[in-house]
Amino acid sequence: MLKFLCDGMLGRIARWLRLLGCDTSYSSLDDDKKLIEIAKKEKRILLTKDLELYKSALKNGIQAFLVKGDSFETMLAQIISYFNISPEINPELSRCPECNGEMQHVPASDIKKFNLNLPETTLKVYKDFWICKVCHKTYWKGRMWNNMKKTLEKVREKMKNNLEVS
Ligand SMILES: [Zn+2]
Repeated sequence: MLKFLCDGMLGRIARWLRLLGCDTSYSSLDDDKKLIEIAKKEKRILLTKDLELYKSALKNGIQAFLVKGDSFETMLAQIISYFNISPEINPELSRCPECNGEMQHVPASDIKKFNLNLPETTLKVYKDFWICKVCHKTYWKGRMWNNMKKTLEKVREKMKNNLEVS
């Protein structure tokens, strides 16, 4: 099971890796030593765009990956190609993009028990909900879901292009 630690520049990447089911921590700490300590203690692969941090992680025996490229899609495509992560969101495996917590699937018929104050229309339209076991944020396949699918299509395009180049 892959466990990642994203540095301060990779917040959006962290959210996406969680959605793709990877246990991913994020730290905005601007202290290389501390980041390396966290990665070591929690046995996480450090993802960074910072060459110096990358080098010192390797020196300290930490598995690290240097993320290249400017666009978000290029960066995510690199990471998921390298680590062989499937570019599909399976909500049963997704972790909470906000806090990395595990999520619980709750069918619409049970959702009222959770007293979440969701709009009636949402409760009527959607059949499946996912609640974070840690921060209790609730997710369903609404408008965001379609945007996410479009983003993943772009990422898959990038993955194909990379394969053609190499
Ligand atoms: Zn959460």
